[in-house]
Amino acid sequence: MSSDFVHKFATFSIPDPRLPPRDDEVVDFLRTCADRWWDKDILTQHQNANSYYPFNARSLVNIVMKSSVAADDPASERIMRFVERFNYHAALDWSALDTKRKTDILYEHFGRLDELFFFGLITGEVDGLSGRAPLVLLETDPDRYSDKLGAFKPTTAKIVIWLRDYDFEQLFLTLAHEMTHGFLSIFSDTRHKSHYEWVDQSSGHGKMFWMLLRFLINSIFTFTKSNYFWSQILVSEDEHYDCVIEQHGPSRPRFV
Ligand SMILES: [Zn+2]
Repeated sequence: MSSDFVHKFATFSIPDPRLPPRDDEVVDFLRTCADRWWDKDILTQHQNANSYYPFNARSLVNIVMKSSVAADDPASERIMRFVERFNYHAALDWSALDTKRKTDILYEHFGRLDELFFFGLITGEVDGLSGRAPLVLLETDPDRYSDKLGAFKPTTAKIVIWLRDYDFEQLFLTLAHEMTHGFLSIFSDTRHKSHYEWVDQSSGHGKMFWMLLRFLINSIFTFTKSNYFWSQILVSEDEHYDCVIEQHGPSRPRFV
């Protein structure tokens, strides 16, 4: 890690370092980190870039559960608009939609999930390799026979969703799952002593991953009253959820 890189982050300071930062100050700092993610000076080292972020996974999950729009403003216009669009897309016959339409709909909800849960940090535009672009990009793969549901790729900051023959709510959950990976992978302090237990274990399905995803699933059910998300609350309450998915082997679609 170059001293230049450390210097770039050292130039940001919390207004009064003797006090714990307010959540909005943390989010401002994370936005600064996102803006520098693709900085060409640190590009060769960017996989390690977040080893200099001071906020551990637990504190980030707490901030989402306390200060995100979903937590802090559940009666807001943005939540009502989200529910309206969710219900509209859930009622469509997904077997009749082409790949482009499915991708467009998922892209819309990529932005809405980010707005509701992740402070706009995931889809916010940053200085990329070829101009301004969202920090994380979303791609879909129409392969019906893949054994995967979704993946977050840290080296390219890209989410891939395999469309399979799934309907909207199944794909929406996959998107929420991968965005949870993306948020923790990009922004949490990898040096923290509990980082492996909280984030990295079971291929990225540590304890804080599940705590954050459960918060998303519970909130989405609370807002939409979706039967599918009700069923997923019950599934995700099983602390061995990740193992259950893995043990079924390659014949069963897997989250990655
Ligand atoms: Zn996963």
